Parts: sequence; structure tokens; C-alpha cells
Amino acid sequence: MVKILILGGGFGGIRAALDLENKLTHSRGSGQEDEAHITLIDKNGYHLFLPALYEVASAYGVKKDPFAVRLKKSICIPYHSIFEGKKLDFIQDEVTKIDLNAKKVFADARVFEYDYLLIALGSQTNDFGIPGVKEYAYQFKSIDDALMVNKKLEESIKRSSVPYPVKIFVCGGGFTGVELAAELSCCAKKVAKVNKIKHKSHTVTLFEAGPKILPMISEEKRQHILRRLTRLGVSVMENSPIEEVGPDFVKLKNGQNMDGNIIVWTAGIKANELLKNVAGLSVSVSGKVITDEFLQVKDSKNVFAIGDNVEFIDPKTQKPVPAFAYVANDQGKVVAENIIRTLQAKKLKSYCPFYSVWVAPAGGKYAIAHLWNGIHITGFLGWVVRELIDLRYMLSILPPGKALSLMWQEVTLFTKND
Ligand SMILES: Cc1cc2nc3c(=O)[nH]c(=O)nc-3n(C[C@H](O)[C@H](O)[C@H](O)COP(=O)(O)OP(=O)(O)OC[C@H]3O[C@@H](n4cnc5c(N)ncnc54)[C@H](O)[C@@H]3O)c2cc1C
Repeated sequence: MVKILILGGGFGGIRAALDLENKLTHSRGSGQEDEAHITLIDKNGYHLFLPALYEVASAYGVKKDPFAVRLKKSICIPYHSIFEGKKLDFIQDEVTKIDLNAKKVFADARVFEYDYLLIALGSQTNDFGIPGVKEYAYQFKSIDDALMVNKKLEESIKRSSVPYPVKIFVCGGGFTGVELAAELSCCAKKVAKVNKIKHKSHTVTLFEAGPKILPMISEEKRQHILRRLTRLGVSVMENSPIEEVGPDFVKLKNGQNMDGNIIVWTAGIKANELLKNVAGLSVSVSGKVITDEFLQVKDSKNVFAIGDNVEFIDPKTQKPVPAFAYVANDQGKVVAENIIRTLQAKKLKSYCPFYSVWVAPAGGKYAIAHLWNGIHITGFLGWVVRELIDLRYMLSILPPGKALSLMWQEVTLFTKND
């Protein structure tokens, strides 16, 4: 039986695992042997739904949740819910080493052998070597990061006093920074209102090193988002590269020192560090895996890679495909298909990048959605579109009852601060 090993249960890894399971192990009851044994390894016991991380950081008014259990459950989807009844093994373990020559993967607790390997380990926060980012800024990549920001925000606003509003800094003007700054501003207002704080309780500043926030979108939509941020009270500082982060300050390259109480880093991602030490693995200057058009790793035909840990150059633009959840999901589908085609000695399918759709939530029940064929939906309807996209994803990985229940929990919890 062919052994297929998937490293990482993120957006890419899960899609590949479910598609492979569906197509390769469904000879149940037919008397035929299954063709493959599929194993997925992840260091966590849950799939983290990163697109809603900002909602956890800015949640407020969730009653009877002293240990944040409801908040955690809203975006940490247990693998046993996703893989229940599926013919694949999920192993919770941390991968420490990949040996391509021996076709082995080493994890904390055991060693795995494979015939086909899929590397889908995602990314890590990039601090660009800036002093103090690791030590003093909240990284924004895990449930614990989001819960820490949430706790600190509420505590600080309640303690704020007349000359000392809480200064919230969000560093990085990509989609994550924009949605977080907007929502933190809404949440801070709500905390102040509920606690009857009459003085100016907070300020929110969004820093961007480059000349523009969201440089990848059209100028018209960028201006729209800027107007919305201003309306919510977020100050946007473009052209403001950060030189150093301290326990309670941010120093800009132009010499300006700014005092801040809550500093969140959303300025970029880099490849998973583990990949640097894999002998024989083709990696780019940025440390990401280089694949061919079939998402096969160079010189290793039985190894595939997808998602944030891959640098795939779009032949149309000659630029790397962006790190989006649905990009990883699409790549997961292609790799599942290509592993099956390899087993059947058929021609492989090329990956055709698609990433022109985006939805930017911008505080409360408001989002700017740029959809297929240039359709543009803004405001409450934009937010509805965003919720429908999330629901569609949940339905693609969970049984309908569980998907609907999870979405209901999300919507009811995350709109309490609006
Ligand atoms: C805050 C935030 C908000 C975002 N919002 C959006 C959005 O709204 N829309 C959108 O399209 N994209 C969004 N993204 C980007 C999107 O989440 C990523 O592009 C997507 O998660 C990439 O999928 P992946 O499968 O490559 O990696 P991931 O989803 O990151 O999965 C990688 C998996 O590998 C596991 N792993 C890592 N190292 C190890 C190890 N050593 N051993 C075992 N397991 C390991 C991790 O636990 C994780 O489960 C957001 C990202 C962030 C950080």
C-alpha cells in the first residue's frame, strides 16, 4: 500500500488530505484493498481558522467565558471533527526534520516513512531582523496571540485615565493589519462605552513601511478603505518603516519615537524555519520551497509542496502568488489530483494561480468585497459576503450540521462588540 504523508493541517494540508481520502480509500465494502494509507501530522490538535483571528483579538461582551473556551472553540476546529469517519490517520506531533534521501520524517515522538510527501507547514512571522519585535510586540499567528491582545485591550482601556489614553499600534498595512486595526478600534469604543468611560480612552495607529497600505489593490478601493479607517478613528501612517520596538514604544526610521501600550506585529511572514535544514530541498532566497507547475518539488518527484511555505511564481505576472487561504486550498486540490495521477501513471495537472478575489473586513458588520468579474460589494452586504465565504469553507471541511453550528457560534460571538 502506498504511504502518503502530509505535513501540516492548515488550509492546504486539510484539502489535500480530504480529497485524497475521498478518491483513494473509497473501495470500502467492495472487497478491494485500499490503494493508500494517508497520514496527516500537525503540532496542534486543531485547525486554526486564521481569517477570523482578528475577531478573537477584538471580541467583547462574551458572557460566561472566563477561560475563553467559547472564543477558542470558535476558530480552533478539532481535527477529529474534520476527519471523523475518514480513512486517514491524524497524528498530533511536531515535525523536526525531513530526510528526503531516506524518505523519512522525524517528529518529536516518532519517525514516519513515506512514498509520497506533501509539505504544507505554512509560514512564520517575519520580524525582518528588527530589534525588539520578537520580544515586545504581539505576534499575530496563533490563538494565544489573539487572546493575549484581547485581554490586554480590555484591561488597559478600563485603566486608562484622562491624560493617558491607551495607545494601540498595529504594525503592517496588509489585509491582516487593516482588519485588525479597524476591529480593535470598534472593540475599544465598546469597552469604553460599557464601562462608562467618558474621557478619550484610546488611539489606534496603523503603521506601514511602504508608501501605501494594501498596495496590491486599486487606488479607488484603497481610498475607500482609508476613508473607512479614518471614520473609525484609526490613524494611518504610511511611509513609516519601524527601526526598533521596545516594551512601550516604537521607534521609526525617521528618528521619531512613539509611546505605545499595545503593539501588534502583522508586518509579514516568512517560510517555516524547518525548511532551511532539509538537505536537497530547493528553496528560494526567502527560504520557501520552489516547485514546478505541478507543485512538485524540484528533483524530488515524490515530494509536493503547497501554501504559504511555497514560492510559486505566477507566469502571467512573474511575481510570487500571494499567501492566501484559498490559494493554499486550491493548491491542495491540485496536489491531491497529481498524487492520484502519478499513481495511475497519467499526465499531471498544472496549477493555474487564481488570487484576484479579496474581502477586507473593516470594523463591525462592514466589509469591502472585490469579487469575480470585478464585482464590488461594500458595507453590510460586503460583510454578508465574507460570512458566506467562511460558511462555504466550513461546509467544505465539516459535516453540514457542524459547519452551520460553528458559523452560528462565530456570528453570535463576534458581533457582540459591534
Ligand atoms: C491573522 C491572519 C489572517 C489571515 N486572514 C486571511 C483571510 O482573511 N483570507 C485569506 O485568504 N487568507 C488569510 N490569511 C492567510 C492564510 O491564513 C494563509 O495563507 C493560509 O493559512 C496558508 O495555508 P497553509 O496550509 O499553507 O498554512 P497554515 O494554514 O498556516 O497551516 C500550516 C499548519 O502546519 C502546522 N505546522 C507548522 N509547523 C509544524 C511542525 N513543525 N510540525 C507539525 N505541524 C506544523 C501548523 O500548526 C498549521 O496547522 C491570514 C493569515 C493570518 C496570519
